This record gives sequence, structure tokens and C-alpha cells, in this order.
Amino acid sequence: MNTNLQMESTNESAVIVGSGIVGIACAHYLMKHGFDVTVIDQSSIASQCSHGNLGYICPSHVLPLTEPAAIGTAIKSFFDRNAPFRVKPRLSPAFCNWMWQFARRCNRRQMLDAAAHLKSILDSSMIEYREIIREQSLDCEWHDSGLLHVLETNSGMRDFAETDKLLADQFGVEAQRIEGKDLTEFDPAFRPGLAGAFYYEGDAFVRPDLLNGRWYQNLKRNGVTFIEDCKLTTVEKKAGQIKSLQTSQGKIKADRFVFATGAWSTQLSSHLGCRIPVEPGKGYSITMKRPDLCPKYPMLFPEHNVGVTPFDRGYRLGSMMEFVGFDTSIPERRIRQLRKSAQPYLVEPFTEEIQETWYGWRPMTWDSLPIIGQVPRLDNAYLATGHNMLGLSLAAATGKLIVEIIQDKPTHIDSSAFSPERF
Ligand SMILES: Cc1cc2nc3c(=O)[nH]c(=O)nc-3n(C[C@H](O)[C@H](O)[C@H](O)COP(=O)(O)OP(=O)(O)OC[C@H]3O[C@@H](n4cnc5c(N)ncnc54)[C@H](O)[C@@H]3O)c2cc1C
Repeated sequence: MNTNLQMESTNESAVIVGSGIVGIACAHYLMKHGFDVTVIDQSSIASQCSHGNLGYICPSHVLPLTEPAAIGTAIKSFFDRNAPFRVKPRLSPAFCNWMWQFARRCNRRQMLDAAAHLKSILDSSMIEYREIIREQSLDCEWHDSGLLHVLETNSGMRDFAETDKLLADQFGVEAQRIEGKDLTEFDPAFRPGLAGAFYYEGDAFVRPDLLNGRWYQNLKRNGVTFIEDCKLTTVEKKAGQIKSLQTSQGKIKADRFVFATGAWSTQLSSHLGCRIPVEPGKGYSITMKRPDLCPKYPMLFPEHNVGVTPFDRGYRLGSMMEFVGFDTSIPERRIRQLRKSAQPYLVEPFTEEIQETWYGWRPMTWDSLPIIGQVPRLDNAYLATGHNMLGLSLAAATGKLIVEIIQDKPTHIDSSAFSPERF
């Protein structure tokens, strides 16, 4: 196994705040380009949103959350605490502004515009991931299995066919259409009588905790320092630069500072002197023992807003998007709902042996685009956050962009739409 990653040498040091998948990817590229890298985290390594997600690396997911129907869905959810997409109204000026800015972007023109930018970073990330997995032989249950969108009803099939046509016509994302009568032959885990499915063959999936863990171990072997339980508290600045970070474990100095702080990023706004409008978008998953008749493919059920991932040694159901602040509860009704959602589709939708019940806060921006680039007016500070529902899929290209931006090189894709300056 080739775990020796360093390609270049600089005399510069970099500190990354946040050890989720985005922080890990930034550490990979910075280390590869010769930086002396330290990663700090207020919690343990990759224990937050990057831990229990569905594991899809999905270039087919180009359409953002800011789409024309999202506002109606959000308003209806004020009165339904079981809605998969739920907004709990709050009288916080920052939250009201976030929602207002989000609402303004829920139109077809801005949806297509955001999708074009997402497409380029999704495609780039898939190329980078393939290279990283191959180069380091990361044993993370990577499967080039594609991803299915499965529809229960004929009207659901008709509606999704329109989305599929949009994806093909505007973005060249093609799917294979599978009629309902052929589904059980395609995967015997399906119940008979479903309307059909669309199969996006270019997608892949991993076991996220294995990817994080193996990648982090490789980086550590290559000299990256990881410090757990180390919370950034204050930023010391002088003459347009960060000089040091004050943390719960003392002062840390470096030449460059990357903030990959996920859903917590807004808390840095006052320290960094710029707007970072990121709201936590809470989702849940349950991981169980594999059913005897386990699906062969990862799949989404758009009519019930739930996803299924068949790991080698486990089986995960995940879903929900709640705008409820940093709420740490895992309500039993949400877990029941998750289990129930897969029932119409699968012969064995769940098993009784639960391995993990989990929630994570997605870092949501109001325009559905990540925030990647230099902090305005701070020469040596960079943001790598706001990856919304696609942080795993986008992490590799984010790391590559961060090192290009730090080294003042032309970026491999146009990253202007991701700039922190846009706020
Ligand atoms: C149910 C669910 C399913 C999902 N499925 C997918 C999927 O299939 N594919 C996909 O691409 N994405 C998926 N996502 C989204 C994805 O999980 C996130 O976008 C991604 O994990 C964000 O990564 P991150 O590194 O930015 O954040 P995190 O993993 O949350 O990491 C941020 C880190 O910063 C640390 N931190 C914050 N503030 C400080 C501070 N002051 N000092 C020190 N450390 C700090 C935190 O402790 C944390 O460890 C899913 C999300 C959910 C909830």
C-alpha cells in the first residue's frame, strides 16, 4: 500500500479547525503539497455530521435544496412536526434573514444556476476520490454501485421522470429507467407492485466512518498532527493576518488557517470579521444488522424522503431535514418514521438489531452552495464549509481547491460562486 503522500515541500505550516470529512480532505491536499499540517477539533475526529451519513458520493445530485417547491414545503411544515423537511419558526433575526435569503433563491433560474456550479465540483470530487482511494488503498467499502431513485406510485414516477429529463437535458446526467415489473428481477429485495425506478450508474457509496477513520490514520502516519477535544475560542489578528488561535488547549501558531467547522461556522463570523450564514440542518440515521434479503444497491425513496445504504456489515436508513437549531434530541417518533418509510418498498425494510441511532447537523447555506475561499480582509485565513447535504461528495474537490487558493494557483474548476465574498 502506498501511503507516502507528500509530493512537494514548502516551509509553511497550516492549522485546520474541524476534523470532519472536509477538514480531513483539506489536510490531505495541504500535506501532499508540503505543508506542516495540524488539525484540531472540539470533539473527537470526524465524530459529527461526517460520521453517520448515508455515504453516497453522488455526482448525480446536482439539484439544490433551493428549488421552487421548497418554500411551500417549508411553510406547511410549520404545522407538522413529522414533516421530513421541517422548519420550526424562531424569532432570531439571523435565522429569519437566513430563511428569507433561502426563500428568495427558490426559483427555477437560481436553482439551475446553483446546479451548474454543483455539477462542476461534484464531477471534480468524484475524479479526486477515485485517485485517493486507489493511491492509498483506502479500505472503506467503496462500491461503484450507482444509486437508485425508487418510486412507489405512477404519479411519483411521472413527476420524477420530469426531474430526470431536466438532469439529462441540462446537465448530461443520464439514468437508466427501470419499469416496476422489472424491479424485483433487478433486485429481489424489492416488494412487487412498485411503479419503477431511475438508476444513476455513475454514483458510488462508502461506509463514512471507515473512510474518515482510514484516511485520518494514513494522514497521521504521514505526519499530520490531530488534536482532539481542542476548541477554538479566539482568533488573534494583526495587520490583516491571523497570528494565532487561542484554543481550550492553549495557543496555536501557523502560517495558514483553514476553518472547516461545518454547522458551527456562523460562530466564527465575529472572530473572522465576515458573514458566514450557515444554519444546522438536522438529519437522522439508524444503522442495523443487514436484513437477510438486503438490497444490493443504495437507494432513495423520493416520495417518502428516505435513503437506504447496504453496507458490507450493516444497513442504514437516513433522512429528514430539520431547521430546529442545535437541538440534540433523537425523538422516538423520528426513528419510527424512518423505519416505516422503507416499508412500502422493501421485503425486509428493517431489522431489530440496532447498531447505532444517530443525528447530524448539516452545514446549510441559503444558496445551497459551499463556502470555499479566502476570508475577506484576512490574507492567511480560508473557509471550507457550508457543504449542505453533499459534504461527503464534495470534500475531495474542496481540499484540492483550498490548496490551489492558498498557493495562489489557477483553480482546476471555477470556484468564484463558492467565494466567502458573496455574503
Ligand atoms: C442523515 C444525513 C445523511 C447524509 N448523507 C450524505 C450523503 O450520502 N452524501 C453526502 O455527500 N453528504 C451527506 N450528508 C451531508 C454530510 O454528512 C455533511 O455535508 C458533511 O458531513 C459535512 O462535513 P463537515 O466536515 O463540513 O462537517 P462536520 O463533519 O460536522 O465537521 C465539522 C467539525 O468541526 C468541529 N468544530 C466546529 N467548531 C469548532 C471549534 N470552534 N473548535 C474546534 N472544532 C470545531 C466540529 O466538532 C466537527 O467535528 C448527510 C447528512 C445527514 C445528516
